[in-house]
Amino acid sequence: MSLSGLMQSKQLLISGLLTHAATHHGDVELVSQLYGGEVRRSNWRTLAQRAQKLAHVLAGLGVKPGDRVATLAWNTDRHLELYYAVAGMGAVLHTVNPRLFPEQIAYIVDHAADGIVFFDLDFADLLVKLAPQLKTVKRFVALCRPEQLPALDLPHLSAYEALLDAADEDYVWPEFDENTASSMCYTSGTTGNPKGVLYSHRSTVLHSFAACAADGLGLCARDCVLLAVPMFHVNAWGVPYASAMCGAKMVLPGSALSGDKLFAALRDEGCTLSLGVPTVWLGLFQYLDQHPLERDLPKLRLNRVVVGGSAAPRAIIERFEKQLGVFVIQAWGMSETSPLATISNLLPKHEGQPLDERYAVQCRQGRAIYGVEVAVFDAEGRALPHDGQSVGEIRVRGPWVLSAYYGTEPGSALDAQGWLSTGDVAYIDPDGYVQITDRSKDVIKSGGEWISSIDLENVALGHPKVGEAAVIGVAHSKWQERPLLVIVPKPGAELTGAEMLDFMKDRVARWWLPDDVVFVDELPHTATGKLLKTALREQFRNLRLSTDPA
Ligand code: ADP
Repeated sequence: MSLSGLMQSKQLLISGLLTHAATHHGDVELVSQLYGGEVRRSNWRTLAQRAQKLAHVLAGLGVKPGDRVATLAWNTDRHLELYYAVAGMGAVLHTVNPRLFPEQIAYIVDHAADGIVFFDLDFADLLVKLAPQLKTVKRFVALCRPEQLPALDLPHLSAYEALLDAADEDYVWPEFDENTASSMCYTSGTTGNPKGVLYSHRSTVLHSFAACAADGLGLCARDCVLLAVPMFHVNAWGVPYASAMCGAKMVLPGSALSGDKLFAALRDEGCTLSLGVPTVWLGLFQYLDQHPLERDLPKLRLNRVVVGGSAAPRAIIERFEKQLGVFVIQAWGMSETSPLATISNLLPKHEGQPLDERYAVQCRQGRAIYGVEVAVFDAEGRALPHDGQSVGEIRVRGPWVLSAYYGTEPGSALDAQGWLSTGDVAYIDPDGYVQITDRSKDVIKSGGEWISSIDLENVALGHPKVGEAAVIGVAHSKWQERPLLVIVPKPGAELTGAEMLDFMKDRVARWWLPDDVVFVDELPHTATGKLLKTALREQFRNLRLSTDPA
């Protein structure tokens, strides 16, 4: 018979993270850019006090354990208060991505049956238009002071700060099962309707430990984090929770993610770490190109940047290191994995390696962190070796990996061995680094072989005149599909297709070289800033490639 351990079975609850931060890191600052340009300086102690008041407000508005509370909000301390108050009282925070199409927002609010919507005033017009369709929503709260609240045609509308001012203090966070749901977000639904991912207190706290681990994101009390990933995008990659766990300072830039604003925040707040999708960093470097503020660079304390959400282009990795002395940590994951799953940190063998070889390691999506098992499988479901060349679909499993989508049976998203299919195609090298080569629906199938659209895009992005690049498969009478390269040149740059192909020809296998190059003013993106390849494929569906004999 097994013997039970005699350790305390304290439940892993999100309220515990906040209480810890308030007790041990109470004076550590939280700097927010609020609606209307106001900058507010709070700290973990004040945030905990206001979250307790907010929990009283929520209870007073009738929110019960398990109820869903929606936000359409930027990165601010008010949003952070909602993160902690809603989950802390046992309800579920549903962070709605305001960049989704209005019909998708209506769909997911209805699907989640959200009862209250907290929103930044930038989204007032959107909500007024949508309100008649939001049947489950009984109340709207604008994240502003009472004097900022305009007259809006929304039922039961209040100003956040007025509710907080009138609220009692000293809410006692309830103790409950750590498997209770805490927050949810919907996948952006590039195929079919968006699907709900429901996180738990336990999964969130365990994921925070991984973010703080040295070979995770290495978040610690000496960090000042600029959160350049929106809080409506997979819980801002878990950093709002992990920062409380370690007591890091946070800079919450509101909606200000343009290059100039990011640079000013990094410099003025002494940020050491930041996180964001590649597009955000391209914006930062575009700003630096136009404003070579060399004299300001030594003032930056920034030493690492986490890039994820889509593949980190080598050009970004190199520029961060060479221009700003910043190490880029690439992370891979998805809504279904909370999102951290693999992280591209270095091993002892990479110490002192020539830069070129090290950048190649950082271009990979990284190694599995403890807590997430990662493996690749072929089409017949056989596990493939980690030999750096066997390409298959990645599957994952672990305590912060989804088991079922919201509204379906627990375990229903998994195969018989408990693996979740990710839809990402990759190989794993002998050191355990994952290299994503595509999403399964984006891979280009040419004459029975696969061509990685991501590899081609990365090579194209290495050309100094290329602003953005996308590669899609276009029907070909002989080869089934062949790659088409679609390019947005940098502002003012003159570039030809021949010049582009000449640049790429020594950098990719000959048969991978795109058949044609087209230039466009802009590329379609998803609500989370990723290339929307379904729209691009649609746009070029009838294109006949110059190499097609038909
Ligand atoms: P959606 O699936 O709707 O785009 P997610 O935000 O969950 O929403 O995106 C997860 C996907 O983003 C992953 O499955 C993968 O294709 C892509 N992705 C995330 N991080 C990386 C990365 N570092 N490199 C390449 N692709 C990435």
